[in-house]
Amino acid sequence: MLTTVKNLNLGSSIKQLFGSSRKTRIIYGSAIFLAVCAFGAAGVAPMAPDAADLPVKSITEELSVPTLSDQIARLQSEEQLYLREEKVRPGDTLATLLSRLGVSDEAAASFIKSDRVAYNILKLKAGRRVQAQTDKDGQLQRLTTTLTDGNNQPARNIVIAREGNGFTATETSARVERRIEMRTAEIRSSLFAATDASQIPDSIASQIVDMFATNIDFASDLRRGDRFNVVYETFWQNGEMIRSGRVLAGEFYNNGNKYQSVWFDEPGSKQGGGYYTFDGKSLKKAFLKSPIEFTRVSSGFSMRVHPISGKWKQHQGVDFAAPTGTPIRASGDGVIDFVGTQGGYGNVIVIKHWNNYSTAYAHMSRFAAGMRKGAKVNQGEVIGYVGSTGWSTGPHLHYEFRVNNQPRDPMTIQIPSAQPLAGADLQRFRVVANEMKHRFALLSPQDNGFKLASK
Ligand SMILES: [Zn+2]
Repeated sequence: MLTTVKNLNLGSSIKQLFGSSRKTRIIYGSAIFLAVCAFGAAGVAPMAPDAADLPVKSITEELSVPTLSDQIARLQSEEQLYLREEKVRPGDTLATLLSRLGVSDEAAASFIKSDRVAYNILKLKAGRRVQAQTDKDGQLQRLTTTLTDGNNQPARNIVIAREGNGFTATETSARVERRIEMRTAEIRSSLFAATDASQIPDSIASQIVDMFATNIDFASDLRRGDRFNVVYETFWQNGEMIRSGRVLAGEFYNNGNKYQSVWFDEPGSKQGGGYYTFDGKSLKKAFLKSPIEFTRVSSGFSMRVHPISGKWKQHQGVDFAAPTGTPIRASGDGVIDFVGTQGGYGNVIVIKHWNNYSTAYAHMSRFAAGMRKGAKVNQGEVIGYVGSTGWSTGPHLHYEFRVNNQPRDPMTIQIPSAQPLAGADLQRFRVVANEMKHRFALLSPQDNGFKLASK
């Protein structure tokens, strides 16, 4: 009685515990033992490596369960089964995939090619997992995979099973599991290096940038030793992460300040939720600290302090150095008041906001599509691209912040925030915020030296 498992999938969280060197481990054991390893709870699976190194005989002695020998005798009379899991590789054909899965079965191959449901196996993208169960001669008993084409398409499980002399293929909707993950990271070289090191997905990294964009200019404010905690949702299927969801809360320790933000969805709100400080103030009406888009691509120039970057100068604006073509975003919600060419400004856009606030963006190489007088723009929307038009000596964004048409220093001005939460909303918010505070306390027991920024 011997069962072979190759590329046993213990779920990615377990894989992280053991590292990737375990990929091709072969485990010998009884079918009962196998069932525990392969399909048991995550807490059970890490036991596998130790137990697997022991001969089956000594396990039976140690366990001394009265019925075990009976079970082994019964299992030995049954046909032995081989379980394997493989990932689809680029350039795979059905033949190469089946071969790696240990399937040597002409009838199975022709069934997969001809059956409408089973044919989905041929359309799997590289990286998808397929599990196969065969007998000792490589005859296919069962083949399973999950299809997740397109984000809006619900995922489906495909099961091909031997039935008598033939096969059946069935398609069922796959259950999606939502998980809440917590990560902590420290900035050593760049934001994306930190998120990579902590295995934080790119879409979560972008959301972190967005949620703190009114407090931190990620291109110039980051310091070595800054750190952050983040709580976000992920969606899983069959032990595989299929996508990441929303950032639920975050706190960022930047240059001596601590910024905190939590997602809150107000019931009956048309805005569809938003980020708030932990004391219930909306971050919605604050202006972005930098109109320059910060992404993995544009972050190549991060951590470098450019002489003209982020300084209020005699010319009553702030200059942000950035390569030509870097996207420029509206720093707040508003309406386009001017778009065109204006003397020394070159290609310039002026946006009118609430409360007689307005912002100007100069020296653009070009405007984004749809920019015309009267058009509505949202905070963070790309309005144009960095250039060097007008009186400019090199590619940069000249940014002006005006109150009643008078230029003001955006780095020092106090902007009134949107209506803070009150009444029942605030009560409900506190429950959410307190839970997140508790999670963060677990992640960073020491936060000495940082003061909580009020904005
Ligand atoms: Zn300037």
